[in-house]
Amino acid sequence: MTPSSKPNRPDAGWHFDNSYARLPAAFHVRMNPVPVRAPKIMVFNEALAQALGLHPEALRGEEGAAIFAGNTIPEGADPLAQAYAGHQFGHFTMLGDGRAILLGEQVTPQGERVDIQFKGSGQTPFSRNGDGRAALGPMLREYIISEALHALGIPTTRSLAVVTTGEPVFRETPLEGAILTRTAASHIRVGTFEYAAARGNPDDLRALADYTLRRHFPDLAAAENPYLALLEAVMERQAFLVASWLLVGFIHGVMNTDNMALGGETIDYGPCAFMDAYDPNTVFSSIDHHGRYAYGRQPQIAQWNLARLAETLLPLIHEDHQEAVSMATRAVTGFPDTFRQYWLAGMRAKLGLSNQEADDGALVEDLLGCMHRHKADFTNTFRDLASGSRPEASIFQTPDFQQWFARWQARQKRQPDAWENARQLMNSHNPAVIPRNHRVEEALAAAVEQADLSVMENLLDVLARPYENPPEEGGYHLPAPPSTEPYRTFCGT
Ligand code: AMP
Ligand code: MG
Repeated sequence: MTPSSKPNRPDAGWHFDNSYARLPAAFHVRMNPVPVRAPKIMVFNEALAQALGLHPEALRGEEGAAIFAGNTIPEGADPLAQAYAGHQFGHFTMLGDGRAILLGEQVTPQGERVDIQFKGSGQTPFSRNGDGRAALGPMLREYIISEALHALGIPTTRSLAVVTTGEPVFRETPLEGAILTRTAASHIRVGTFEYAAARGNPDDLRALADYTLRRHFPDLAAAENPYLALLEAVMERQAFLVASWLLVGFIHGVMNTDNMALGGETIDYGPCAFMDAYDPNTVFSSIDHHGRYAYGRQPQIAQWNLARLAETLLPLIHEDHQEAVSMATRAVTGFPDTFRQYWLAGMRAKLGLSNQEADDGALVEDLLGCMHRHKADFTNTFRDLASGSRPEASIFQTPDFQQWFARWQARQKRQPDAWENARQLMNSHNPAVIPRNHRVEEALAAAVEQADLSVMENLLDVLARPYENPPEEGGYHLPAPPSTEPYRTFCGT
């Protein structure tokens, strides 16, 4: 099979407009995905398809498989691999889409512009030593966790489909090859700006900045200094995003600058995972030896990445370099405060508090300290607080927790809301279910080893409604049983 541009069934609902392809040539290489032998759909996100203006009935069968494998190019697409750079674990590298192809931007019935991108679609000029391919397990893992974050209300890229390719990929052992179709507000990364700055063409850098303003922050075009305003707006979104992660115990795991999107979405689900017992030093990634991307370090790393973005913008912020540096520095220095405001607002909601008191930060920190000492489950401790009486979990029996509990109850009385309202606030901010690591692994094992997708489908159903109590007997709310092996995740697979 060769890729063809023949129109697919007219009723699939594609409506492409490819603004990224109109950026200067340095930003991309036009190319089609490399066709695969025998594509088959494993999961298809019909609700997302509908929201994008696509018609699921036209995409379910073989035709859908051919499209989501990159064998058939839908009319209006203008496929390309994106060029970008990035700081990986602190070291600068020229990167680019080594195994991804941007099909184009689907314009939804609501007029939103959404990137449709394949991950695992073959080699590109940016592949370096990689095969350009992906294995089924990690693509399904991205599907599960990105959809879980979406359901939790956290900005994220989403997953439209996973197909198997009918071709093996070779890692330590041969694995089943797969392609994920990912959707995103855009794939403009901090690393895209680093790429433009490193190449040193001022026109390209300005074109990228103007494009980003138009695409994500159209209101800022009229700002007195649009490029400083761009930096500040990106910082605001990252502060919100990283606070949202911390509030649900999410660890991204590989916050390299190429994995930070200017649109403010969570992107790149490699070694990410949710924390069970609260410990700010939690790290799951097998390659994060020094804990650079540990749970509690995420705000600092976000600020570090934003400083890299700020550096690229200096020539646009002010023609006088020293002046530009002082303006950008002032902006980046404000990040911890902005982050803290979002985090504290979220924590107040998790504790059912609708008004503010000066000591609220200390109240939250003392609870977290207590949870850390007692290795309490992060998700369930917060969820259980709303049950009103002190539940069974062992932390609730400890003297330091009981002292904290009395303080919190006194604090509850100093707000205007009745307990019932507080409880509702808490139950809409403290998830009952998160994608527990052992449940994700169980779903992936069934899908990959037994070709049984039902375990994953059941998990996806529960994760789609994380603030509802799932049926007790499913055990979806339970942390992993004690194990001698710490949970480990892997990236770039
Ligand atoms: P990531 O760690 O997923 O953010 O990827 C970092 C870089 O490695 C990106 O440029 C990817 O496109 C590239 N990459 C990851 N896996 C592969 C692969 N199997 N083949 C080619 N490039 C890859
Ligand atoms: Mg990446």
